[in-house]
Amino acid sequence: MDVFRDLYQQLIIDHNQNPRNFHELENASHHAEGQNPLCGDNLSVYVKEKDGIVEEVSFTGSGCAISKASASIMTSALAGLEVSKATRLFEDFITLATTGEGGAELGKMEVLGGVHKYPARVKCATLAWHTFRGALDNTNEIIKTE
Ligand code: ZN
Repeated sequence: MDVFRDLYQQLIIDHNQNPRNFHELENASHHAEGQNPLCGDNLSVYVKEKDGIVEEVSFTGSGCAISKASASIMTSALAGLEVSKATRLFEDFITLATTGEGGAELGKMEVLGGVHKYPARVKCATLAWHTFRGALDNTNEIIKTE
């Protein structure tokens, strides 16, 4: 089976070709680097947080279609959320990507739940999210999926 057919190809292609919020963020309050050596995905995630609200999220870097599409969809989903809500969304997404369960609150991101059948691809889909979490935690280490 082809992973892309399982993942609602069009949405992935669209976000891969026209990634949203694909730039560095001026005045970012948090930033982290993420690497998925297995696939060669390298992402930087920038977060602007103020008064407990995730005001803006952006990313740069290079990677496969799934890692970029997931990052792009993530940046749109997180903007404007309270930090506690963003953290919950992170947990929901990781559960969805690793088990295929849940996702009702995740909207469009639900299509990425199909990756749970492809363990190597789970790391592509979750890289941006783990990097976002690391950024919130002010980690100085590179977030690695391995
Ligand atoms: Zn990848």
